[in-house]
Amino acid sequence: MFFIFCIFILPITILLILLLSTRQKANNESQPTDPMEVCALCQKDFPMNQLIEKEIGTYGRVYCFCGECIEKLYNELKGQTDIKQENK
Ligand SMILES: [Zn+2]
Repeated sequence: MFFIFCIFILPITILLILLLSTRQKANNESQPTDPMEVCALCQKDFPMNQLIEKEIGTYGRVYCFCGECIEKLYNELKGQTDIKQENK
């Protein structure tokens, strides 16, 4: 009976220890890096060095935009102006 108990408990405890140690490692690694900020458009988390901060509106609210969204906006605008130019 004790043997069966050991077989079930040992892997679980080892797994738990591994999970806890990896979690602590992840916490330790994420702390010294740049603070994460949410992109105002896609709502994804990015480190601050991958975002652009812009003060928008009269209230001076600061929004962050990621490169992917800026590129998407740029392509959208480009597409729009291209269509307008074709219509002329
Ligand atoms: Zn984005």
